[in-house]
Amino acid sequence: APTSRLDKLLSNMSYASRREIQLLARNGRILLDGVPVQRADMRIALTPDLETRLLVDGEALDPLPGFALMLNKPLGVTCSRKEAGPLVYDLLPPRWRWRDPAISTVGRLDKETSGLLLMTDDGALLHRIISPKHHVAKRYRVQLARPMAGGEAALFASGTLMLEGEDKPLAPAELVVISPQEAVLEVREGRYHQVRRMFAAAGNHVEALHRESIGALALPADLSPGEIRRLSDADLAAIF
Ligand code: URA
Repeated sequence: APTSRLDKLLSNMSYASRREIQLLARNGRILLDGVPVQRADMRIALTPDLETRLLVDGEALDPLPGFALMLNKPLGVTCSRKEAGPLVYDLLPPRWRWRDPAISTVGRLDKETSGLLLMTDDGALLHRIISPKHHVAKRYRVQLARPMAGGEAALFASGTLMLEGEDKPLAPAELVVISPQEAVLEVREGRYHQVRRMFAAAGNHVEALHRESIGALALPADLSPGEIRRLSDADLAAIF
């Protein structure tokens, strides 16, 4: 396992400045295996069990660097700091917002899209999930303004659909019709407003959009809008 200086680890995890962490240690407020840490500059192995062995003010450590979480993204919350409105980052515990490496979203959902959104501080993991080369399937439930005409599934599956303003056709996508104005669409790319633009190209309009799953990782039924949950190794394995 990699090692880190304890004060550097905790300051990067945004607990406090290195100076303040020295003071915390001196005041016996940092415990390792139940024993007060004497030196804030001690080197420490970053093994997963550290999250329960190291206590700061009696509380288990925040996730070590290299973690991922899922969010049930509510409507009206944005993934982009350039847009108006509350940010998905505001739904994280306050200390998590200032970590280094920073936590970012794995791709984006529109402000008016709800559902499964992943976040991580692990750049390699992020790339593996969003890179079109890896073909991770993203499944959306779609509510439409008008009944479907009937040719949508064939159009989306064709691999020839061109979105306005783009020069490369979309890869085949799978449409499952639930009712005339409701469908589940599975795409393996992540182009800007992709699902909305696909239905616009088919002469329809998306009224509501909800992401149900990424790979075989489904949004858990007991994760309420606005709630976050750490990804387990099994969750991560289900993505690929
Ligand atoms: N496609 C869209 O149009 N919007 C999203 O948020 C996700 C996929």
